[in-house]
Amino acid sequence: MAAPSRPPATSRALPAFVPATAAAEPASGLNVAVLGSTGSIGTSTLEVLAGSAGRFRPHLLAAHSSVAAILEQAHQCRPAWVVVTDPAAAATIGTGALPVGTRLAVGPEALDELVADPAIDRVVSAIVGAAGLRSTLAALEAGKTVALANKETLVMAGPLVMRLAAARGATLLPVDSEHSAIHQALRSGTSDEVVRIILTASGGPFRTRSRESLQTVTREEALRHPTWSMGPKITIDSATMMNKALELIEARWLFGCPAEKLAVVVHPQSVVHSLVEFIDGSVMAQMGPPDMKLPIQYALSYPARHDGPARRLDFTQGLRLDFEPPDPVRFPALRLGHEAAARGGSCGAVLNAANEEAVRGFLAGEIRFTDIADMCSRVLDEHAYQADPSLDDIRRLDVWARQEVVKWARV
Ligand code: NDP
Ligand code: MG
Repeated sequence: MAAPSRPPATSRALPAFVPATAAAEPASGLNVAVLGSTGSIGTSTLEVLAGSAGRFRPHLLAAHSSVAAILEQAHQCRPAWVVVTDPAAAATIGTGALPVGTRLAVGPEALDELVADPAIDRVVSAIVGAAGLRSTLAALEAGKTVALANKETLVMAGPLVMRLAAARGATLLPVDSEHSAIHQALRSGTSDEVVRIILTASGGPFRTRSRESLQTVTREEALRHPTWSMGPKITIDSATMMNKALELIEARWLFGCPAEKLAVVVHPQSVVHSLVEFIDGSVMAQMGPPDMKLPIQYALSYPARHDGPARRLDFTQGLRLDFEPPDPVRFPALRLGHEAAARGGSCGAVLNAANEEAVRGFLAGEIRFTDIADMCSRVLDEHAYQADPSLDDIRRLDVWARQEVVKWARV
């Protein structure tokens, strides 16, 4: 009997793990909303848009309080809207400060409303932390195609977010470099052919440090990432490896991948952005220099690929790729990530909130570096687990977890 034949690659539906195909680009270019435009991802996004030969144009820029920076961006790229979510900061914007043709809106409610504007084709969700959840939900509610940098959205409310996207016909495409790599590698097979998704981790600035010496690391040392240039919160998360923990949870929901199929490998050069192992033993990797412009552009152009401003690998120079197993003893955050990905429910929201508060405390000099994972572990253990929390439950747990960290930090 002949083996069942596979449909040709061009007409084959994408594997179940891979988000649905985004709508085709109109000839006139796509209007992009950049939420968090003044941040690290936001500024890289504006570089991608500027280098896109008119395929993408900034329609809305949003930031919290960096008024000078967003005004400068507005004069450079002339969006239809500028949104400043902090009313006190917005009040400092004088009349005539914005370019002609750009309007100002103020507050998070205004952002939720504007992100649903039918004129917007793509939303780049790059606000940092739990603050990014509401505008991402508003964009999905409006059925938008969302390029998601704000991993906290999926960490906090993964099942709810994926259900909303499916119900509203919205599309979520990853910007996180690991998830972009996985998304690309998954195009090589079907979901039942995947045996393992392996996220790479740089190991951060303390990859080779002893657990004891980690107790005394300073804010400045922790902010000095060896390969990536990023905002302060995610840079600290990379140093504790909590970033990888959050990314395990993000992958769990984004790709609908069971937690036991998720693994982490340390790869100090940050060139292989993640790997997918298939049933026949083939391992597909995606490679590129550590430059977020490539995953940002891929999330905007998917399923097409375009030339763009991202750096390229130079194979005429020597290139060394090292891989080593992670050390969960020195980096206990990793264990928390595996645990929260496996237990699901309220664990992601609690872990995320505890971590945000602990990172704030560390950056403010209130707690030690090693306290971050210890506090997150205690809050996760002590919380009243809920298997299928509502958005209200998630918001309540978020507040509770932050209060617990503050309480313990004072002890
Ligand atoms: P940054 O700290 O550099 O930028 C954060 C952005 O969010 C700024 O535009 C900031 O505005 C805005 N913002 C902060 N608080 C609020 C708020 N309450 N309401 C509205 N806007 C707010 O962060 P990154 O660019 O590093 O990270 C953004 C997201 O992308 C994070 O979720 C991170 O995990 C994720 N990510 C980042 C990567 C990177 O390379 N940086 C890689 C992969 C994922 P303002 O300037 O006014 O404060
Ligand atoms: Mg990442």
